[in-house]
Amino acid sequence: MARINWTRDELLLACALVVENGWRELRPADKRVQNLSKILRKLPLHDGAAADPKFRSPGSVSRKTGDIVTARLGYHGVTTKGGQLTREVVADFTKRTDEMLSAAQALYAGVASSELVRVPAQEGEGALGREGQLLRRWALYRERDKPLRDRKIQAVLEEGIPLQCEVCSFDFTTAYGELGDGYIEVHHRLPLHISGVTETRIADLALLCANCHRMCHRTFRGESWRTPAALRRQMRKSV
Ligand SMILES: [Zn+2]
Ligand SMILES: [Zn+2]
Repeated sequence: MARINWTRDELLLACALVVENGWRELRPADKRVQNLSKILRKLPLHDGAAADPKFRSPGSVSRKTGDIVTARLGYHGVTTKGGQLTREVVADFTKRTDEMLSAAQALYAGVASSELVRVPAQEGEGALGREGQLLRRWALYRERDKPLRDRKIQAVLEEGIPLQCEVCSFDFTTAYGELGDGYIEVHHRLPLHISGVTETRIADLALLCANCHRMCHRTFRGESWRTPAALRRQMRKSV
């Protein structure tokens, strides 16, 4: 079978392991490597690849941890070989260690709950941010949960607040009349890879119009998530 390139999601998990191991390579016999090998073989990233018993074997995971250590030398100015994506992930871990470790933890939690593995591809996944494909997909899926959305809208209406975009005040009913009545989108103020996997509270959700919601999720300079407050600042800068 042809060699299958490592995705950002896989590199994120492997790099987290290397960081936790003090930026040192891990051997194939190491339990953590064997555990990661099992997880990588379960991720819905490479259709059918796990039919090959050698796919993401402990040996290949161990070699990847070696590549990561080497790529880090490159980050510190030593000339090294190694893939561009590996170097990017290493740079992310070097600059934003806590954020990246928390993303890896959210991925592990997602696999453990088995919810993440079952989430279908989502509209608007688009270009990848630092947290990779699966967390982005899972986060979008969680936001589109209808009961959660209904609870948020109910809570806002009970407080007597109109259903308006928190960023630009767009009101679907005012703009579209009956057709827009009750329409609004729901956005997590904090992304899954920062907040970790927690039960969502109503206060964690913001109401946004479709345009502002798209802009909150647009990948730009590695960032694929904005809070309503950050988007508002961005809008002020542009006027
Ligand atoms: Zn808006
Ligand atoms: Zn959102």
